[in-house]
Amino acid sequence: MKRAIMKRPMNSLTGFLARRLARCLALLLLAILCGLGAPSARAAEQVVLQLKWHPQFQFAGYYAADKLGYFAAEGLAVTIRPRQPGPNPVDVVLAGQADFGVSGSAVVLSRLRGRPVVLLAAVFQHAPLVLLTRSEDGILGPSELKGRRIMLGPEREDALLLAMLRNQGLGPDDFIRVPHTFSDTALIDEEVDAVSAYVTNQPFQYRRRGVAVNIINPVGYGFDFYGDTLFTSEALARRRPDLVAAMRRASLKGWRYALDHPEQVIDWLIADYGSTKSRDYLAYEAGMTRRMIMPNLIEIGHVNPARLNWIADVYRAEGLAPPAGRLDGLLFDDLMTPQVRLPDWVRWLGGGLGLLGAASFALLALNRRLKRLVAERTRELERARDRLQYYLDIVDKYVLTSATDLSGRITYVSSAFARATGYDKAELLGRTHGLIRHPDNPDSLYQEMWSTVLAGRSWHREMKNLARDGSTFWVESNIEPTRDHDGTIIGFTAVRIDITDKKRIEELSVTDRLTGLFNRFRLDEVLAREFGRFERYGRPLGVILADVDHFKQINDSLGHGAGDRVLAGLARVLADKVRAADVVGRWGGEEFLILCPETDLEGALMMAGKLRAALGEAAVEGLDLPAGRRLTASFGVAVSRPGDTIDSLISRADQGLYRAKNEGRDRIRTIEGVGGSGEAAPEPEPV
Ligand code: GH3
Ligand code: MG
Ligand code: MG
Repeated sequence: MKRAIMKRPMNSLTGFLARRLARCLALLLLAILCGLGAPSARAAEQVVLQLKWHPQFQFAGYYAADKLGYFAAEGLAVTIRPRQPGPNPVDVVLAGQADFGVSGSAVVLSRLRGRPVVLLAAVFQHAPLVLLTRSEDGILGPSELKGRRIMLGPEREDALLLAMLRNQGLGPDDFIRVPHTFSDTALIDEEVDAVSAYVTNQPFQYRRRGVAVNIINPVGYGFDFYGDTLFTSEALARRRPDLVAAMRRASLKGWRYALDHPEQVIDWLIADYGSTKSRDYLAYEAGMTRRMIMPNLIEIGHVNPARLNWIADVYRAEGLAPPAGRLDGLLFDDLMTPQVRLPDWVRWLGGGLGLLGAASFALLALNRRLKRLVAERTRELERARDRLQYYLDIVDKYVLTSATDLSGRITYVSSAFARATGYDKAELLGRTHGLIRHPDNPDSLYQEMWSTVLAGRSWHREMKNLARDGSTFWVESNIEPTRDHDGTIIGFTAVRIDITDKKRIEELSVTDRLTGLFNRFRLDEVLAREFGRFERYGRPLGVILADVDHFKQINDSLGHGAGDRVLAGLARVLADKVRAADVVGRWGGEEFLILCPETDLEGALMMAGKLRAALGEAAVEGLDLPAGRRLTASFGVAVSRPGDTIDSLISRADQGLYRAKNEGRDRIRTIEGVGGSGEAAPEPEPV
């Protein structure tokens, strides 16, 4: 600018002086304006926010707004003042000792009583106020408190609880009201039977002391008040709407941050704001606070006028508010909008048209805003629903799950489970799981399952099931009781994993492929188990070792394949003849081991005789041998005796077998020394 002036030719002295004067005046004016404007632009407005309790997560949004400079960015220097003994926040703000306050639905009551409070935001969409009872007393609902001692705060604070009690049939004379001492010991020491409390933190304190409590929540009985609210006085709202709006903006921004970063705000609460609570406590409170605010569903701070009217009705019904008390002026937005929407000059200018125009414009604006909000929320809900549906589809497709009512009737079944059973969903619904019960499962299995889940515990078992086509499928089953919101069991949900393949592999790993009998690996296991029983309880264990006679010749004359078939047939004969408790397996090659638990020498010799005789009978048809050819085997028998090991027992059976072979085959021998010779019943000579 200086250069521009210099470049301009100076036409005359007067012109020069006039320009200098104008410039000086302009500078002076600027200086004055700056001097006036500077303090209001730079120095922040000092305001005080009165809390309703001590520093804790309940006020996280305000502390976050302070710490993160959201207040400062709005030109505010906010002193956050914790609750002090004496007057409540409404009294403090209306007395001019604070500019803003945090209260509950009590601001609604104050307005009904004609006090000039203005509601800025309903931060907690639900009141955290509940009644706590000792779990051991089994008091679960308000009606069970008849004649009991209930510790309650001032009426204006605990009106919600009184309303719930009255609604549930407990008028003021139906219980003993004890003034609140704000100490946890009253309930623990059984001075009272119920106490009003904040669900956001107090259950945690009781739990930490090892005291189990029941929560009676008014929400469950239809009494749903707003929880913490931000408010100011009508005087300030009218005088400085800009400042009030700025305070609300910064506070809600702080809340959004606090709910997304609870750990960070907990750090600040402890380090900078003098919270004396433990980190665990604050973390618990943060989780519960989030549930009160529901930031995913509702815009933080949103106030629904219809709910305010309902809350007002409850206060009137409780006799706390005058019947004629009105809510006019309570909402900050209502207080401000008439001045914008319907300024006086509109009416003075008359013109119903103008009035109508302004009103419809405002309505349009409001409508647009609402539409946008609804659209946003709808989109969010749709996204959430789609995500949920996606997971539900996966579950339906891949998880074997079903649900039943208390009597076991199927109320839900996934496609995957229906597929595994071979039935249609429609065929399963309304039936019981008895439809797929496998005949091998004993009744005791189902008795154990029912007694477990009816007692409220989960049940876990590997189970065999029968599919529609008669095939078996194995599942690992987990059954959990399903409960309603009161915790009452209303049915059962089963989630299963198909383990048919695993079971098949297990089966294969213990079965001999050629004969279908237990293989050597499994025989060793059973032998160890049965021998262990002999060692523990002294019960005798008989063992029979059988070896096919001249099997080489069978192979040589008929071929190895025919030899295989003979072995398989022989295995069937053995398996058919042993008792249910006996175990028969392939010991190796053409040798078989038969274990006879609880069997003495005489019994084992008898069993061997039975097997030998059966081979003789089955010689032709069963064993696929050429006509006239007999199949025989030699048997060695032993019975456990004190001092035995598994090896010594088997070794004696082997020696018996050796003797049987030596003495001509097709006979039974033992070296246990019965009857001196160790010879069994008379036998025919081998062919
Ligand atoms: P003995 O026992 O009476 O003294 O005569 P043996 O001919 O049976 O003699 P040994 O027990 O020594 O021979 C067993 C024969 O059984 C040898 C082997 O080739 C045959 N063998 C073992 N396992 C199998 C099998 O899985 N299939 C077939 N086909 N033969 C087998
Ligand atoms: Mg052999
Ligand atoms: Mg042999």
